[in-house]
Formats: sequence, structure tokens, C-alpha cells
Amino acid sequence: PKFVYSFTEGNKDLKDLLGGKGANLAEMTNLGLPVPPGFTITTEACKVYLESGSEPAGLRDEVSAHLDALEQTMGKRLGQADDPLLVSVRSGAKFSMPGMMDTVLNIGLSDASVAGLAAQAGDERFAWDSYRRLVQMFGKTVLGVDGDLFEEALDEAKHAKGTTNDLDLDAADLEALVDRFKDIVRKETGRDFPQDPREQMDLAVHAVFESWNSDRARLYRRQERIPNDLATAVNVCSMVFGNLGADSGTGVAFTRDPSTGTQGVYGDYLQNAQGEDVVAGIRNTVPLAELETLDKASYDQLMTIMETLENHYRDLCDIEFTIERGKLWMLQTRVGKRTAAAAFRIAVQLVDQGLIDLDEALHRVNGAQLAQLMFPRFAEPATSSGEGKADRIAWGIAASPGAAVGKAVFDSYTAVKWSRSGEKVILVRRETNPDDLDGMIAAEGILTSRGGKTSHAAVVARGMGKTCVCGAEELEVDTKKRRFATADGRVVEEGDLISIDGSTGKVYLGEVPVVPSPVVEYFEGTLHAGADEQGGLVQAVHRIMAHADVRRRLRVRANADNADDASRARRYGAQGIGLCRTEHMFLGEERRKEVEQLILADTDQERESALRTLLPLQKGDFVELFQAMDGLPVTVRLLDPPLHEFLPDITELSVRVALAEARKDPHENDLRLLQAVHRLHEQNPMLGLRGVRLGLVIPGLFSMQVRAIAEAAAERRLAGGDPRPEIMIPLVGTVQELEIVREDAEKVLAEVRAATGVDLDIKLGTMIELPRAAVTAGQIAEAAEFFSFGTNDLTQTVWGFSRDDVEASFFTAYLEKGIFGVSPFETIDRDGVGSLVKQAVAAGRATRPDLKLGVCGEHGGDPDSVHFFHEVGLDYVSCSPFRIPVARLEAGRAAI
Ligand code: PEP
Ligand code: MG
Repeated sequence: PKFVYSFTEGNKDLKDLLGGKGANLAEMTNLGLPVPPGFTITTEACKVYLESGSEPAGLRDEVSAHLDALEQTMGKRLGQADDPLLVSVRSGAKFSMPGMMDTVLNIGLSDASVAGLAAQAGDERFAWDSYRRLVQMFGKTVLGVDGDLFEEALDEAKHAKGTTNDLDLDAADLEALVDRFKDIVRKETGRDFPQDPREQMDLAVHAVFESWNSDRARLYRRQERIPNDLATAVNVCSMVFGNLGADSGTGVAFTRDPSTGTQGVYGDYLQNAQGEDVVAGIRNTVPLAELETLDKASYDQLMTIMETLENHYRDLCDIEFTIERGKLWMLQTRVGKRTAAAAFRIAVQLVDQGLIDLDEALHRVNGAQLAQLMFPRFAEPATSSGEGKADRIAWGIAASPGAAVGKAVFDSYTAVKWSRSGEKVILVRRETNPDDLDGMIAAEGILTSRGGKTSHAAVVARGMGKTCVCGAEELEVDTKKRRFATADGRVVEEGDLISIDGSTGKVYLGEVPVVPSPVVEYFEGTLHAGADEQGGLVQAVHRIMAHADVRRRLRVRANADNADDASRARRYGAQGIGLCRTEHMFLGEERRKEVEQLILADTDQERESALRTLLPLQKGDFVELFQAMDGLPVTVRLLDPPLHEFLPDITELSVRVALAEARKDPHENDLRLLQAVHRLHEQNPMLGLRGVRLGLVIPGLFSMQVRAIAEAAAERRLAGGDPRPEIMIPLVGTVQELEIVREDAEKVLAEVRAATGVDLDIKLGTMIELPRAAVTAGQIAEAAEFFSFGTNDLTQTVWGFSRDDVEASFFTAYLEKGIFGVSPFETIDRDGVGSLVKQAVAAGRATRPDLKLGVCGEHGGDPDSVHFFHEVGLDYVSCSPFRIPVARLEAGRAAI
């Protein structure tokens, strides 16, 4: 295979092979944009290296050939003593992993070539500073020397000079520092800093390969669900310098505002600086617009290039560029990350500009983003009148939206520790770097006092969908003392409650109350799509949702047990109820008593009396529910959980009885209850007497529920309504169970028909939530008019994972070990559980071609799982009311 591609050979569609950076550098090169020449070593080469521990055969020769060609183009050789070609060696995976992997700049400098660089640049200080940076970066990332050793030596040099500023070190100081750095390398690694430029390059390439497997890269991938086996490409690019004086500089830019989607000039520029200085937020940048006054020609060229890129990619792009002595160079571009709100707005803007169609717009947003827009925001606190509990203490940059409240913590370790013990925390730093990743994941939000919208904190937080305010410069953050001071001298200590607003950049002391999101208000019908103060966000959501509804094949139903939830679900676009859990109707003081009576009944008479009392209560619930969902199907599931769930806790009750006995005053009822609790106690209640088993063991229970449903439907029909109930039997493992229940139910339905004169057409179906049911679905379909996959129990029983325990017990370890990237209770396990679903769909339909198929487990509202259910051909998904918009959107996306 070919392992090396010149930038002139690749294109943007080769991301698997060349990584995002390499593919886009090639694309820009072919667009005729000013990209420094270079080449990309493929991810395939990296894979071989990581598997075998050495370069694939032939790579060395291919690299030599490309290096020769590069040297021809540039008219100088790598490390040539009198005029050295220098290169950067940069990682670049298919998906961007900001700051996670290694980069080495200035490869090719050595004792022999440093003078040549000085002569060519006409700047001795610059040459020694570049060499100093190379030894430092190479020592740290390639040779694994502790980076602090270099930092300390640098600090000492500055201290000796009586300064704290790098720029006060002159050429001689830097030359001495290079010697010092080389000593450190020798002492720490037992070898000299390599003087052979090709050796430098090869070692740097290997280090980039290996950085794919660094701890922080692995953690990031797990978090972002990026597969571990993609590997990284390596870009070898001729160096251009932004640190050659005031007519040089480096910057980053977006073609639109990544947090709102507004068109305009967004970015940061840093004069006389090298690339990493901007992203690291170490020095303060100026807004990109100021470049126009600093260097009009470069600015104008950049604006033209940005327009070219946006039209070419038909999307928001972000860009890294460098100006070397007045000449503009493009170092990177890619389709830029953006906030959820910007994603919706930009998609619709591009449709209006005629750059993309609505299908493409739908494709470019997703359910996770929509879910994020449905989070509440902060209410404006009434600080001036002194009514609010929270005071605004700073106003930083709105870097990643949302509202976060938590205790201030000042390091990643504390953030993780406190959040593990259930505290909500805000990670406060001067600026973040990749070492802060754990803490950022654990925190509710991130606050920094330095850096702009393109700082590490901002970029990573946006990627994670986490609230972030950055560059709150009024704050003096002292991470050593674990506190920060505000402009007016107040001190906020570790553990103090603060609130940050990632949509406005405001920071408050104390807890700020939150208000609902405008998108939720829109779904609720209280905010009209046209009446939108937020720059067209609601309008954009409205248009994209409408298109998703046109496109989707899957219908979306709700899991709802009462009229309120049903009404909300309907407002959110539900097309019926896919799961009404009737056990929720058995709760409440009065009903619990009746259920207790049912369980305690010794005689048929007692039991029938309890059922007679429950009947009208159940019926009343159904009447309300059918009214709320008038004209739409309502799947009512008969009682599912084990009976002990309706009885008092065994320990509490034992104590109560023991105390009463000590007083010689035991309650008759308590004693009976205790007996019943003991009788019903099961080691494995989830695998015990529940679901259809309960219906078969307790005479009259299911019949009562069926009667309540039928009578409620009849009543609604007689009142002019259009009730559409369906009856669903839970936890069926064999068709025989279903047949018995079915026979009884049909008898009851016939009775109600006869008694009311209403011709009821009520379908009877079952849940498929046990492996045996899935495997024998063909037989079960003989007795079922519909299936609804109960993927919660199905996941539990297929994996043998207790759904109530595992997520709190060993799942963290499983996730850390990469056994799965996400809990199978959250996203359907396609290979295992999913494969059973597929099998049951086929077998069920083979028996009964018009079998209705749905899913009502939690997966029904999970974006990835919705795509799966579309693919296997279900008719609908059912999920909690709040997730209905997400399911509609993803069902639409699945269909395009
Ligand atoms: C299921 O098991 O997936 C289901 C929907 O039922 P429940 O969650 O009530 O057990
Ligand atoms: Mg279940």
C-alpha cells in the first residue's frame, strides 16, 4: 500500500486515511490556497506501527522520496547548515482531538544549522529561540523528559536576568539555555539530543504514532465515543514563522460565530507569535478585526479565503493561519465545532443561502444538540434591588452555552473527587490544558480567567456540550491557594457556590434560579415560532422539526401514565401512548391500601371485594388518559412489578411489629402484612412473580384491569370520543401464557360489549422483553396482534445485568476498560440485544404480516438506538414525553 501522500495528492474525503488535518490541508492545496508544502503519513502506517512496534516495510523509502520532493520544491534540504529547511510533525486523526496528541515544531535545527537559520532570518535571537523550543518540545514529547525540568531551567534563566518575560532573554541567554536543555536531555535519557535531522524527524513521527495511545487521548476518545482503532495520521509540513517580528503573527478564525451562528469576522490574532501560543491562551490575543489595521493586505486575502472555504465546504469552517513577514499561510481548516444553537441556526441559514437543502440541514443537526437546547437557562437575578440571592461577580466570554451551578474547585483531582461523592462542581482555572480533561468531564461547567473563544477550555467544552465561560479577566485565580478574587476584592474559596452562564458569559456568586428554554416553550406551544428574541433559534428548530416529520417513517409515541404527561407528550408531537405502566396507578395512600387488601386476601370473597374497589379507580384513570389522547392509540400494559413493591419495607415493618409486640399491642393488620411480606419475599424479584406470571397466579387481577380499560373506552365512545386502547401483556416467555390471558380478556371484552352496546375493537399484544420471547416470537405472534420490545428487561436478561444495580457498581470499570463505550441500558447493544430484536421482528412478521411493532424501553428516546429501530423496520418508538422531540428529529435523520 501507499503510506505517504503529498498535500497535492489527497483530498477532503480521505479522512480515514489522512486524518482530518491532512485531508483538509490537501483540499486547500488543491483549491490553490497558500498552504506550506508537505506530506501526510497515513493512519494505515500508524496502525502497523502500533501493532508491530516498528515502521511498515517501505515506509522509510516512501518518506525519503517525499522528503526529496519537498526539498526540491523548497530549494533547501532538511537541516541544511547554511539554510535549513525546517518542518513541523503534527498528529491528525479522523476526528479532531484538540490538544490530545503530540506535535513537534522546528524539526531540522541542530548545532550545525542554527547559525544558518540566524543568517537567513537575519535574527540571531529568533534562531536560538527556535532551537530552544525544539529541544524542549522534542525532549518532552519524543524523549519523555519531564517538561517541568525545562520550565524550571527557563525560569532560572529569566530570574538570573531579573525578568519574568521570555522576550527579555537575548540570543546569548538562549544559546546558554539550549546547552542547559541539552544537558537535561543527556542526564534524563542517557543520550544526546539527536543532531541528525532525519533522525529527529523519524523519532518525532514515531512519537506522534504512539501518542494515539496516550492516557489522555484514550480518555478523550471514550468520552467522545471515537473508536480506538482509527489511529492517527502524521503531517510533515514545512515551517513558516509567525514569530519573526511585528509583521508576523498567528491566528485562528471562524467563518461564523461558533456560539450563535451569526455571520461576521470571528477569531483571535497574536502578533509575533508561534501557533501554539494562541490556543494555549498564554498571551492575550486581539480580535481578528484588528488585523485589518495591522496588515490590510493579509486581512483582505484572509477574508477572501474564508469565503472560498465556506462556499466550498458549504459549512462553518475554522481556520489556523500564520503570517510570516507579511505573507499569509493557511495551516489548517476544518468544518468547525459549534454550539447546539449555532448548529440549528447555521443549517437553516445555509438553506436560505441556497448552499444546502433541507435534507442536508436535517443531517447536520442531531438529537443530542436538540436535547441540549431543551435545558433551562438562568433567570436574570434581581441584584440591584437586593432581591436576588446571587451577585454578578464577573462577565467573561460566553464560550459554551447552558446554565451551570456548583461549588468552585480549582483542580481536576478535586473536581473528580467531589463529583464522585455527588457534589456539583464548577472547575475554575486560569486556563485549561489537556491535563484538566478529567476535571472538565466531572464538572457541571468550566470557568477560566484567560483565553478566548478558541482557547482549550472553550473548544473542549463546546465539544463536550458542557457550559463554559472563559476569559473572565476580572478574576484573579489562585489555584495554589484554591480561591479567586473578584474585581471588587471579594474572595471566593473552594467549596463556595457559584453559577456560570455559558450563553451570556456572566458569572455569579451563589445559586441563580433557572428559567425554561425557549425551545421547550416552543414545544409547549407558549412561544410562537415567529416570536423569537434569540436570533431565529426557535424558527430554525421549527423548520428542521417540520422537515424531520415529513421525512420520518417511524411514528413516535410516549411512555405516559397520566393525563398530564399524555397532554404534554401530545404537545411535543407524540402520536399516541406506547406504554402506560398501570402500576403507577396503584400508588397513592388510598390505592395502596386497596392493593394491600388484595394481596392479603385469604378468601375469594375478600379478593373480589378488593378488586371491586380498585375497578372504578382504574377506570377513572383510563377515562382521563383516553380523553387526553383522543383519536390516538394508547397501549395500556397490565400490572408488571412484583407485589412486594406495594407492601411496606420488610425492615421497617419488622421493627414496627417488634416494638408493638414489646408494648404488647400488635396490630392485627401489621402482623398479616409481615407474614405476606415474608411469603412474597424473593431473592431475585426481577426474575420472580411479576408480569404475566402475576396475572396467572392472582385470579381476577388482569380481568379487572381489562374490564376497567374496556368500560372506560365504552364510556368515552358514548360521550362522543374516539378512544383507541390496546392491551399489552408484560414479561411473556411462552405463547401458552399469552393464550390463557387472552382467553380471559376476550371473555371480559365480550361482556363489556354486551353490557354497553359499544362495539369495541381493542387489540391484544405483548411485550417482547425476555430472550425466550424473542427467540420464539414466531409462535408468540400467533396470539399477539402487536409486539412492543421492552429493551430494558431484554437488555437485563440478555446480558444478565441487573438493571437496578450495575450502573452504580461495575459499569465505570467496564467503560474504563472499553468493554463498551456506552451503557447498553442507554444505547441499544446492536450485536446482542439488537440481533434478538431483529430476529423477533422477522419471525413475528412471518407469522402475522400485519403485526404492529414498537419499542417502549428507554432506548426509544436514544438517538443512536432510534436509527437502529428505523433500520430493523419497527413501526414506532415510544419514549418519555421530554424526549419526544429528540426521537422525532432522529427518526427523520434516520430516514434521509
Ligand atoms: C422494558 O422492560 O423495557 C419496559 C419498557 O418495561 P419496564 O421498564 O416497565 O420494565
Ligand atoms: Mg419491562
